[in-house]
Amino acid sequence: MIKFRNVVKEYKNGKQALSGVTIDIKKGDFAFLVGSSGAGKSTFIKLLLKEQEASSGSILIDGQDITRISKRKTPLLRRNMGVVFQDFRLLQDKTVYENVAFAMEITGHKSKDIRRKVPFILGMVGLSAKAKSYPGELSGGEQQRVSIARAIINKPSLLIADEPTGNLDPKNAWDIMRLLKDINRRGTTVLVATHAQELVDEMKQRVIQLDDGVVVRDEERGSYKNAR
Ligand code: ADP
Ligand code: ADP
Repeated sequence: MIKFRNVVKEYKNGKQALSGVTIDIKKGDFAFLVGSSGAGKSTFIKLLLKEQEASSGSILIDGQDITRISKRKTPLLRRNMGVVFQDFRLLQDKTVYENVAFAMEITGHKSKDIRRKVPFILGMVGLSAKAKSYPGELSGGEQQRVSIARAIINKPSLLIADEPTGNLDPKNAWDIMRLLKDINRRGTTVLVATHAQELVDEMKQRVIQLDDGVVVRDEERGSYKNAR
């Protein structure tokens, strides 16, 4: 579903963050993106979300080259992707339920569907009892579950997580990683950029390693090794 073909990204200051990246991620894959700080992981994700434009090369998502679609059409593209960040990015003045419902409201779903679907997804991420709580009342692990619920509520085909466990203690980090794998088992393609060495080693999933803008390793059932 995702094909990077010889993708180069050079920022305006002349820094080449990606130097000819070619990667295939198939529908239903679960892949870790690892590499030291500055390796190009965030740039890779920003190109996927079309927050940044590639300097050359092509990026195909479900056969469509997103480097060739107009900025106007990016909202449509993003509807098919859920994104989870290290810092959760929840709306502080909305409850857990409202944070998740909001993602359906802005995509124009009927309130009947929202009332049916939000409780289902909150159950799936183990937060049914916290529906009426505000983000500030939740632990980091719980807040990350809300952000995952929000990311998957519209059934994206791809879920992208950028350092999803970066702010969590080991126990919560484990639970979040298991939840991501669970979502993957239900059919969503999942890409996780992370520094969480022990989790990557334990999960035995595909590992793509970037180093200075180049893919230096791509292994099925890989480990974190060598990445710093
Ligand atoms: P990672 O997420 O792996 O830490 P990044 O994709 O953030 O790596 O960065 C890759 C390289 O590109 C780094 O050298 C970084 O300093 C540089 N970089 C990132 N964003 C910009 C930007 N907006 N302008 C210039 N250089 C950037
Ligand atoms: P329906 O099939 O009646 O439209 P829903 O859309 O309410 O049902 O979703 C319920 C079903 O869809 C469940 O069986 C669940 O497995 C699946 N589902 C819904 N959303 C997701 C999601 N984001 N990720 C994985 N599975 C989902």
